[in-house]
Amino acid sequence: MPAIQRNMDPKKCPMPSQDPNVRNKNFKEVALGYTAEMAVNEAKRCLQCKNHPCRSGCPVDIDIPGFIAKVAEGDFEAAYQVLSASSALPAVCGRVCPQENQCEGKCIRGIKGEPVGIGRLERFVADWHRENVHTPVTPPAPNGHKVAVIGAGPSGLTAAGDLAKLGYKVTIFEALHVAGGVLMYGIPEFRLPKDIVQTEIDGLRALGVDIETNMVIGKVLTIDELMGEYGFEAVYIASGAGLPRFMGIPGESLKGVYSANEYLTRVNLMKAYLPDSRTPIQKSRAVAVVGGGNVAMDAARCAKRLGAETVYIVYRRGMAELPARKEEVEHAEEEGIIFKTLTNPVEVLADENGCVRGMTCVEMELGEPDASGRRRPIVKQGSEFELDVDTMIMALGTSPNPLIRSTTPGLDADKHGCIITDGPDGLTSRPFVYAGGDAVTGAATVILAMGAGKEAAKAIDKAIREKDGAQ
Ligand code: SF4
Ligand code: SF4
Repeated sequence: MPAIQRNMDPKKCPMPSQDPNVRNKNFKEVALGYTAEMAVNEAKRCLQCKNHPCRSGCPVDIDIPGFIAKVAEGDFEAAYQVLSASSALPAVCGRVCPQENQCEGKCIRGIKGEPVGIGRLERFVADWHRENVHTPVTPPAPNGHKVAVIGAGPSGLTAAGDLAKLGYKVTIFEALHVAGGVLMYGIPEFRLPKDIVQTEIDGLRALGVDIETNMVIGKVLTIDELMGEYGFEAVYIASGAGLPRFMGIPGESLKGVYSANEYLTRVNLMKAYLPDSRTPIQKSRAVAVVGGGNVAMDAARCAKRLGAETVYIVYRRGMAELPARKEEVEHAEEEGIIFKTLTNPVEVLADENGCVRGMTCVEMELGEPDASGRRRPIVKQGSEFELDVDTMIMALGTSPNPLIRSTTPGLDADKHGCIITDGPDGLTSRPFVYAGGDAVTGAATVILAMGAGKEAAKAIDKAIREKDGAQ
């Protein structure tokens, strides 16, 4: 085979995307994806490093140079096979992974230019496979063991897929009426189209994974019942972190104050933006989203698409400290979101009907670094001002829901409600009960949750085989 001609362009092949002034009025995907030619060109930027530092930045250990080499050769199906050996959801990861802090953050090409567009290539390959290959999946031979997974989000889906490939009979118990967790209710359609998530879930079903929806574990059934009368030999708790945090300031219970979780669920899961949706959402004139993470960006961009004239991100630190991905901040700015940084709300103001009519804010300045290493925001004396808004969305992070730990005797959790595990394999204080993802770490990223699901699947398989061997 002739040697691949490397592409030494210091910049990534740009991603085609919708015009900002068009896309901020629709819910269609912002990034349009590479063509085959763009993908091959970008893949040729990879130097095929022997020590592949990029790979150490991937929580699910994808053979990155391996799949990129196949793209450079134009063998996209072979590239997909490399990807799918490590990732159950490549079309999702290629879109929502914070690549700049993970695989791409370690790429050698990033030293003197831009890193290889690993995420963009992953997305291209997964999309190409979905559109071009329709081979039916053959479920593996059953190994006679049953495992329950609680939660059909990225961590639960990953663990379920890996266990099913090993022959386990896996049942996922999902509290909502659809599977997908945060991929369905949290991340908006314009970043992650729901039919892509659905295709990946259908792929797991084809592998033999059962998904029981509307099953709130801790209410309908307990973990003791699953492991007792229902005969599951191990349980993986991947119930996420769905309990929103609020600021505790006056006026937070007024009409027009939402948690980002509620707001995004109404928009993404219940499609409140469609004229025939049965789930209402407030038509806002001016919206303040409090927080600076990806969820805050998502909520602000949804509010803009729902027709709000003015949308603010209100964040108590500066632009440099925003925890959201740089790309998401740039997209939000392009779409007309106004960043009010070094600003903190202290009160939500009511009109005569008990609805939000504005909020009182204070200006902040940054002091010495705090325990997190970030500079501590300090209130500027006498800086109070009013911000004219009729909707406020709190995007201040989430904690795990207490239901499972409160109904499972002997399951240890820390003071934040996160389940305690004995290390990366996710074993909890209860034998054969594992946990991972946001239920253990608090709200984190999709890919870290998937990495935890992978580790737990390996550990569950090992524990069940050891138990078998001991009998
Ligand atoms: Fe990078 Fe995420 Fe893909 Fe891993 S899964 S290679 S971190 S984009
Ligand atoms: Fe390719 Fe970058 Fe990984 Fe090297 S570090 S193998 S250039 S993706």
